[in-house]
Amino acid sequence: MPSEKEVLEALRVVIDPDLRRDIVSLDFVKNVKIDGEKVSFDVELTTPACPVKEQLRGQAHDAVAGLAGVSDVQVRMTSRVRGRPSPELGKSLAEVRNIIAVASGKGGVGKSTVALNLAVALHRTGASVGLMDVDIYGPSIPTMLATVGELVQGPDGLIQPIEAGGLKIMSMGFLAGPDTPVVWRGPMASKMVQQFSAGVGWGALDYLVLDLPPGTGDIQITITQSAPITGAVIVTTPQDVALGVSARGLKMFEQVQVPVLGIVENMGVMACPHCGESIRVFPGDGVEEVCRRNGVPFLGTIPLDPMAAEGGDAGLPVLVRTPEAPSAVAFREFAGRVAQQLSVVNVADSETSHRPSKVELTETGLIVDWDDGAHSEHGARDLRLACPCAGCIDEWSGEKKLEADSVPADVSVENAAPVGRYGLSLAFSDGHTTGIYTFRLLRELAGLKS
Ligand code: ADP
Repeated sequence: MPSEKEVLEALRVVIDPDLRRDIVSLDFVKNVKIDGEKVSFDVELTTPACPVKEQLRGQAHDAVAGLAGVSDVQVRMTSRVRGRPSPELGKSLAEVRNIIAVASGKGGVGKSTVALNLAVALHRTGASVGLMDVDIYGPSIPTMLATVGELVQGPDGLIQPIEAGGLKIMSMGFLAGPDTPVVWRGPMASKMVQQFSAGVGWGALDYLVLDLPPGTGDIQITITQSAPITGAVIVTTPQDVALGVSARGLKMFEQVQVPVLGIVENMGVMACPHCGESIRVFPGDGVEEVCRRNGVPFLGTIPLDPMAAEGGDAGLPVLVRTPEAPSAVAFREFAGRVAQQLSVVNVADSETSHRPSKVELTETGLIVDWDDGAHSEHGARDLRLACPCAGCIDEWSGEKKLEADSVPADVSVENAAPVGRYGLSLAFSDGHTTGIYTFRLLRELAGLKS
């Protein structure tokens, strides 16, 4: 009969591919029970939408089944969405774990469609989800869900969101009515968001999806600063990539220190109605390239799909109306990636106890002054060799893939951009741009206490 310690030791080989750590050190393994040759335990993931749940289950099972004296292994996959509720903001958002802003450089790229289907997909995995439509120019969520809202105040004085399809919904449209032209601008818009963030009874939510107005100007920046956003998703089409619109979105979130969870491409491919094969509507693979250049995750492609448009018009999201439609399948995969990236942000955020007070690029690398008075100097090549990105480290085994010989001796750091409040994205002179160095990692590399 194995001991609990042996079971945990065996499970250390199971690596979460996004968090790049083993499931034991991440404290995912719970309720280990050993009864003779039978072992059972829970693996508590950070999201019910985890796309690699079954792989992890299989690996955890096999790791323990390989122990001497074990004949039966039961693995229960559970989840607890991590996040940072904001009790300091009052009761409205006090129990909201994650706020996801969905943004686009301009209108008509499918931002609202993506925001709605993201909310629905997350909800369908078992998470509690709200959707806040602050698209002042065209609040389309009520139409897409065929909801009309009679807003009421709860006993606590907070406005109750409208429930539709299991989601809690709040929209400018409920206030303005579908036919009222919305002429609110700038200050009005951010006041609305403050109202929504402070005056709505969201209750306990795993995810609150925020459908921002299109664009990357002052209005969007003000709104982004009015709510504690966990991470942002940028929606783009291949044409906008050519125009550099999504790059402006990246700059905006960098400015307000909101981590970008990634970019999703909408309407870039089309499933051929005859053979089912995927056809690229425009040449090139622009969105992936923008992601690579900027070191942000590529969250996938949602195909141009008549059923996605029909779903919007019919008041029933495509994920509910035709769950096997090509766009519905893509929306589910995309939502899984968003949830994964949120977990990465939350774990990094919870492990950040010290932040830099100053970062300086030098000819030889990077110098950091820390908020606890510590000071660290990092050689460019050492940093490059320690790159934690999926290209340099195997996401399943945690083993280094980067060959030291392939990194030039005179490599330099060309740019260091903040990522949320937990790290830096470094661009090196050898063209490598995908490494996000958490402050925890930088301190670890310098031998400082994290
Ligand atoms: P935005 O919020 O960016 O202005 P919308 O979500 O309102 O854009 O979408 C604009 C139009 O494009 C809508 O008619 C919508 O149904 C349609 N649409 C969005 N995404 C897709 C898609 N993947 N396939 C087909 N039509 C889409």
